[in-house]
This record gives sequence, structure tokens and C-alpha cells, in this order.
Amino acid sequence: MAKKQTAADRPLDVLIAGGGYVGLATAVSIKQSRPSLAVAVVDAAPAGVWEKDTRASALAAAACRMLDRLGCWDGISLEAQAITDMIVTDSRTSDPIRPVFLTFGGEVAPGEPFAHMVSNTVLTGALRRRAEALGIDIVEGVAVSSFDSGPAVTKVHLADGVSLQTRLLVAADGVKSRLRAMAGIKTVTWEYGQSGIVCTVRHERPHNGRAEEHFLPAGPFAILPLKPGRDGANRSSIVWTERTADAERLVSGDELVFEVELEQRFGLKLGEISVEDKLRAWPLGLTLTRSFIAPRLALVGDAAHGIHPIAGQGLNLGFKDAAALAETIVEADRLGQDIGAEDVLERYQQWRRFDTVQMGITTDVLNRLFSNDLGPLRQMRDIGLGLVERMPRLKEFFIRQASGLSDGTPRLLRGEVI
Ligand SMILES: Cc1cc2nc3c(=O)[nH]c(=O)nc-3n(C[C@H](O)[C@H](O)[C@H](O)COP(=O)(O)OP(=O)(O)OC[C@H]3O[C@@H](n4cnc5c(N)ncnc54)[C@H](O)[C@@H]3O)c2cc1C
Repeated sequence: MAKKQTAADRPLDVLIAGGGYVGLATAVSIKQSRPSLAVAVVDAAPAGVWEKDTRASALAAAACRMLDRLGCWDGISLEAQAITDMIVTDSRTSDPIRPVFLTFGGEVAPGEPFAHMVSNTVLTGALRRRAEALGIDIVEGVAVSSFDSGPAVTKVHLADGVSLQTRLLVAADGVKSRLRAMAGIKTVTWEYGQSGIVCTVRHERPHNGRAEEHFLPAGPFAILPLKPGRDGANRSSIVWTERTADAERLVSGDELVFEVELEQRFGLKLGEISVEDKLRAWPLGLTLTRSFIAPRLALVGDAAHGIHPIAGQGLNLGFKDAAALAETIVEADRLGQDIGAEDVLERYQQWRRFDTVQMGITTDVLNRLFSNDLGPLRQMRDIGLGLVERMPRLKEFFIRQASGLSDGTPRLLRGEVI
């Protein structure tokens, strides 16, 4: 793609910098709804890197509806594990029993669970195949190195020396977004001093679709059910929050020490456990951006907001951005408006900014409330959890929020066409 455009060619309509889940979902959402728009994706990562990601993500019901509407769900569903219920506990790491304070279960509609676990490679693979089928060019191994926004188009310079023109540039380049910095958009950022250890665990007995969130003093320890492996092994994904120094010690230290610490948190209810993949820890922080837009530029996904994984909502927020941006610019294009114009992008920002700030603050408060061992605070939060447990309508409200189907949800996330 990069070599094809010459000065005489018409500019691209949308150039997306970043071919992660959110960049690809944005490209597919726009192109599928408005095939006449010329859409391309440029990704800095070398070809094939995405196939080495062993992690999995919790996808809320709304994100699954969107993937279905985008023609990706058939390629994902066979590999996706429905989360049928969830339990929440609050205890000390050494406690032999973890009393359950809160349970969630049920479906958002008949036959539709509130979330699924999907392996990251299956998700990216399905989005990439759909992008290619729609004729979207994906250039890999090349970063956007700079750009100049003009009155009608933005000139985008790639690291290989090629320049492209586009009416709208979308920054989907992750939480440390260079495009955001180049546009001069300020952020409010703080580190939690915690890291998320992610690994896949095999266990003897089946999980029956149950997810568990154990609030421990260093941070939440989540057990998320996965589809059995090719050999039929029962598996779960672990997202384990620890203080950063402890997390580094655990992932780089002795395997036996790691397994003992893991077993203390995981328990033996599912029988013997073993770790399937290489361990990694991600430093956790909160990043809120002062703006989602700049001249002819829109931020989506982690480039627009980085949040704590305590509620497994980061990627789900990113899919909401993708759906909202696509809906905004497709409608603008249908009305003959300039898709990169300030008033069009302002509509996108108004739609998404409040929701992401709200989710960022909610995850921040939850993390501060639960990641500590203060006795009176523990009593208060456990009373709170117990109250929610006894109020079915409040629980229903929380399930609806977690499924991403709250008010103001973009059409694609409701499973509708734009
Ligand atoms: C431990 C952990 C567990 C999580 N679990 C969940 C979960 O269960 N559910 C959930 O919803 N979310 C979860 N998240 C959050 C989720 O992983 C992120 O929100 C998601 O990866 C963001 O996707 P993205 O496409 O915005 O960014 P990324 O996945 O970071 O992709 C950015 C892309 O941009 C490319 N890029 C970078 N710079 C440039 C450049 N200059 N030019 C071109 N391309 C560039 C990169 O190569 C990359 O492909 C978790 C996060 C962590 C840390």
C-alpha cells in the first residue's frame, strides 16, 4: 500500500496507525459500513509478532455482538469460552478458605452469556482475515514517524521514508501512543506500582465456565475459564496483580517458587495445576487523555485511555471507541460532510470521553479500595459486597454494565448495522 500512493493519487480517507485489536476493529467497522472509503492500516510491529501472543481477553457481550456484526464471530466462536458465572472473594493471601461475598451469573439475553474468554491470537486472526477480505491494506513493520495536519488532508510520514496523505488519521498505537504525543495531547498518568502477571494454567478438573476474582492485599487475582486445549486439557487464564518488585521476582525467579505461590492463590479445588506458557508481567497504570481529538486526528483504544485490568474492560472500551468513531464518520460521510472536520470529530469525542473517564476512575477506586489489608476498610467493603449480593436488581444493573450494553452504546455493539 505504502508504495502505491503517489502525489497524483487521491488521498486515503482513513489511515489507522496501529494494527492491534482496536485499530483493526476500527478499520473493519468503517470499511464494512462504507465500502467507498479508502481505509489502510500501518503497524510498527514486524509481521507475525501477533501470532506469538499467548494471552486471552475477556470480551463483554456487546463486543461479541459487534464482532458478529463485523463477520468475525464465526471464526472466533468455536474457540471462545462462555463465562457462565462469576464469584468474588475478599481475603488475606494466607487464608485457608476464601469466603464468597458476591456471585454473578446468567445471560444478558436467552443463550447470550455476559462475557466470553477469547485467545488474543484467535481474535486478531479473525479481525485480520476480515480486514483483508474487505480490501483493507495492512502494512506491517513500519511505524508512523511524524505527521503534518493541513486544512484538507494530513501528510503522514512513515519510518521507511514513504509519505501518505489522508483525510483522517486514527491513532490506535497503544497506551504509550507516540501519535498522541506528536499531536501535543496532554495526559493525566499515574503508575500503580503494581504489575499484572499473565499466564495460562492447566488443571485436572473442569472449570464449568466459572470465573473467579479474588481480592487479595497486593491486588486482584483473577481466574478466567478457557476452552480446553487441543489435547483436551482443562485450562484457565490467570491475571494476577502484585506489587511490581514482587511480580518481577516471581516471573524471573525459580519456577518452583512461582508454582507454590500460584497454588496458594489458585487453591486445589480444580485439582493439580501446572503453568502452560512463559510468564510475563505488565506494569499497570492509569492514563487519561485531556482530549480524544486534534486536527484531522482521533484517538482510539489504549491510545485514548489506559486503565487497570481489575474489571477486564480495557479492550472492551477500545471496541466502543472503534464502533463510535465508525458510526460518527460513516454518518458524516453519508451526509456529504468532511470526515476529518473538527465538528465531526467533536461528536466522537463527546460520545466517548466521559464514559472512559468514568470507567478509569471506577477501576482506580476499586483498585485502591480492594488492594490493601486495612481491617476496618475490609469490613466496610465486605458489607458492601454482601449488600449487592442481596439486591438482585442492583446485580442485574452491574451485569448489564459489565456486558457493555448500557445506555448510549454504539449500534455495532448492540449488534445493529450502522
Ligand atoms: C494484564 C492485562 C490484562 C488485560 N486483560 C483484559 C481483558 O481481559 N479484557 C479487556 O477488555 N482488556 C484487557 N486488558 C487491556 C487490553 O489488553 C488493552 O486495552 C488492549 O490491548 C488495547 O488494544 P489497542 O489496540 O488499543 O492497543 P495495543 O494492543 O497496544 O496495540 C497497539 C498497536 O500499535 C502499534 N504501534 C505502536 N506505535 C506505532 C506507530 N508509531 N505507528 C504504527 N503502529 C504503531 C503496535 O505495534 C501495536 O500493534 C488487559 C491489559 C493488561 C495489561
